[in-house]
Amino acid sequence: MLAEAIFTGTELLLGQIVNTNAAFLSKQLAAAGISLYRQVVVGDNLERLREAIDDARRRADLIIVSGGLGPTEDDLSREALAAALHLPLVEDQKARENVTRYFAARQRPMPSSNLKQALIPAGGRALDNPYGTAAGVFLEHEGKIFVLLPGPPREFEPMVREQLLPLLEPYGARREVIFSRVLKIAGLGESAVEEALKDLLHGTNPTLAPLAKPGEVTLRLTARAADTEKAQQMIRPLEENIRRRLNDYIFGSDEDTLEGVVGSILAERRLSLAVAESCTGGLLAHRITNIPGSSDYFLGGVVAYSNEAKIKFLGVAPETLAAHGAVSREVAAAMARGVRRAFSAAIGVGITGIAGPGGGTPAKPVGLVYIGLDVQDLVEVQREFFVGERENIKWQATQGALYLLWR
Ligand code: ATP
Ligand code: MG
Repeated sequence: MLAEAIFTGTELLLGQIVNTNAAFLSKQLAAAGISLYRQVVVGDNLERLREAIDDARRRADLIIVSGGLGPTEDDLSREALAAALHLPLVEDQKARENVTRYFAARQRPMPSSNLKQALIPAGGRALDNPYGTAAGVFLEHEGKIFVLLPGPPREFEPMVREQLLPLLEPYGARREVIFSRVLKIAGLGESAVEEALKDLLHGTNPTLAPLAKPGEVTLRLTARAADTEKAQQMIRPLEENIRRRLNDYIFGSDEDTLEGVVGSILAERRLSLAVAESCTGGLLAHRITNIPGSSDYFLGGVVAYSNEAKIKFLGVAPETLAAHGAVSREVAAAMARGVRRAFSAAIGVGITGIAGPGGGTPAKPVGLVYIGLDVQDLVEVQREFFVGERENIKWQATQGALYLLWR
């Protein structure tokens, strides 16, 4: 099956956006065994778009048009296809539902301009678009297949994968699934992770790809196979191998978050938690309370930014502050202990550090953070040096605290 693709959008011709749909579609078609012979970019112009479709259908069996399905005057793909094939535009029930459902879900009235998104060339079928107003179009006409898909990549990409490729299977598109599993690591930097896994990083199927985020490294394990089960089987030995090496740092997989995993552990062990935050300004409490059900274990927190607040609300001794400074092992410990007692919690966390960009000294540089942990009166303090911008350091400090809690 020979395909050609037409990408519409004046902003593509002006270089204002990059044609990521082209790269995406090309890869997907190649993986499906469909040869893409030509890509064309045209502006939002009815006549030129009609002509591009008309040209393409003389050569190719499959013509895919990206973009131009919106409600505005410059969205012309339906009209151009209808004109190229001399077909009328007719209202389609499914396409109509796609657009009305979108507005109903947002409880907003539908502008009348959106009504044209219910139209498709006669004989075609609408392709469900769960991500936007515009249904796609799939039309077989005189032995050729014409496909219209919405332009925004977050609509285009899933529609290629979920709607278009399955429809092309009967025409010889190969079916292969790509299955990925993600392992999440905290407490270990990217280079240490790569060092531990370096002999595994060059596989081709399955592949292993590390990705560093602030305070976290994710490992993506990907396999291609005829079906999901086979792909999972291919991934399993690789995952076991990785877990043998990095088990103390792998806190979760796929959609897991560190705050979610910590929450589950606290809930399971019936342990309550209170946090005292200085440099993180409440970010730790925010992340903990992002987890539904956190009220089962999270009692509360104190944002004690000033020394006075640390003394008044957490019972940190003025002498401790005077002797060691606010950013110190001793104050982190006193904050953890103070907040645990104030809330009568099983566990207290205290964070104090220098988020920058100002305020650093050679002895206490920007990025220095102490994290205190008081577990039923047993106190430990972790000292960390984080690198990055202010927000990044705050994030890493909360990540460090959550990692201590997890471990
Ligand atoms: P809309 O309903 O948003 O108007 P549409 O189907 O009419 O969708 P276009 O108007 O052509 O699509 O494009 C909408 C937006 O989608 C563009 O402004 C651009 O941000 C993005 N887009 C369109 N085509 C491409 C492309 N080929 N590659 C990357 N992004 C694209
Ligand atoms: Mg548009």
